[in-house]
Amino acid sequence: MKIGVLALQGDFDAHRRRLEELGAEVVLVKKPERLTEIDGLVIPGGESGTFLKLLGKDGLAKLKDFVRAKPTFGTCAGCILLATEVENPKQAGLGALDITVRRNAYGRQIDSSIREGRFLNEPIEMVFIRAPKIERVGEGVEVIATEGKDPVLVRKGKTLAATFHPELSDDRRIHQYFLDVVANGKLSGE
Ligand code: GLN
Repeated sequence: MKIGVLALQGDFDAHRRRLEELGAEVVLVKKPERLTEIDGLVIPGGESGTFLKLLGKDGLAKLKDFVRAKPTFGTCAGCILLATEVENPKQAGLGALDITVRRNAYGRQIDSSIREGRFLNEPIEMVFIRAPKIERVGEGVEVIATEGKDPVLVRKGKTLAATFHPELSDDRRIHQYFLDVVANGKLSGE
């Protein structure tokens, strides 16, 4: 299975390492042209506004086409890019997942923290860095993980978004979950 990690900026190498530990072949995607080679894509954390600048209009259009067709997992800034609605400030993106996301929602005092949340009802460590909050979950969007009352990992079909950084914890379950989504999609010919 070939998984791409968008490698324009931000935290892509930790995702690469984790996916390789789990047996995936990883392509670091620096040019949108390489999207054609992969079965699934991780959009890492970083600064969502910078991603948009670096992608440009053409890159964004290519990425939109990919996300519509193939499994994609966005973490933190990646989650912001996937959302249909972004606040604080408003920002356009891929519009792929029907959620409303508020950027930098935890304020400066607690802009980074490690907390325990629940993933598929099991406890799991979550690392938050200048994290967004998912303020609204649209119809048909499943909540896969929570922290307190907040949804922090959501999914609709083959599209996943997390407000935390699973690549920065030792636990491999979240990436394995995404790889399972990619593998199942391949099996069902999706
Ligand atoms: N605060 C960043 C943004 O708004 C996201 C932070 C992250 O990816 N760790 O894009």
